[in-house]
Amino acid sequence: MSMRELVVLGTASQAPTRQRNHNGYVLRWDDEVILFDPGEGSQRQLLHTTVTATDLTRICVTHFHGDHCLGLPGTIQRLSLDRVAHPVAVHFPSGGAEYFARLRYATSFYETAELRVEPIEADGQRIALRCGTLEARRLRHPIETYGYRLVEPDGHRMLPEKLAAYGIAGPAVGELIRVGHLDLDGRRVTRAEVSVPRPGQRFAFVMDTGLCDGVYALAEHADLLVIESTFLESEAALAAEVGHLTAAQAARVATESGVRRLVLTHFSQRYPDPRRFHDEARAHFDGDLIIAEDLTTVQLPPRRVASAG
Ligand SMILES: [Zn+2]
Repeated sequence: MSMRELVVLGTASQAPTRQRNHNGYVLRWDDEVILFDPGEGSQRQLLHTTVTATDLTRICVTHFHGDHCLGLPGTIQRLSLDRVAHPVAVHFPSGGAEYFARLRYATSFYETAELRVEPIEADGQRIALRCGTLEARRLRHPIETYGYRLVEPDGHRMLPEKLAAYGIAGPAVGELIRVGHLDLDGRRVTRAEVSVPRPGQRFAFVMDTGLCDGVYALAEHADLLVIESTFLESEAALAAEVGHLTAAQAARVATESGVRRLVLTHFSQRYPDPRRFHDEARAHFDGDLIIAEDLTTVQLPPRRVASAG
């Protein structure tokens, strides 16, 4: 089984605190290791985890406020310092290309790493990966912001005992998966006879935003949703005004979208006690609920069981 997990580097919005670094998240998903929103200090936070800069295959930035991108200079320079041999793709809102260019070349350094710069130009833009599709959706924030989701297509899990019963082995298995059936001595064996559906997994990353269609589009049926909850309901009016979510709103999105494991993060420093986020969200969401802490790891939940029929 390949590794699919979220490594949390930092969880503070706006300014770091003694307990929380600026934002930063790494998603390990098969052959992809994606760094999301590296805030200030992300390079050093990586040192406290099992992820190295050399592991990174892709960087996704939601928007160009400092708590989501001030870690780019250090991280990008580190890729060259470590002589990363593979190209690293970078996605960010195209309207922020000038900010990206400045951050990328913030100081002098000897550039050896290859960045594959692929800005997000439009709502709904999709990037095909080996392990699924990365999709960007426009969010509601004072500057151009995109959230991301990674969607693995539904597939099939072949049943070895059924394959063996029909004497199907080797390249014939691949042909059966590809074509959907196999003709054996005048009898047709269909894929459905020797497999069960394997629902694809989904990861969503929603940050920073007020409630909007993009939030729901990203969260839909996510196995793991990482979503900002900067504020509590006591500051709901302020949250709406500045384009942020409350813990209750984020939790209701998760419930309405069929999310399985919910990770709340991007906390305002005005709330020293994280239990308040938990208690507020718990009243609106009864699935797996995690109030993110720096330098913790969150596994993707086990694959959904396919519904009958
Ligand atoms: Zn932010």
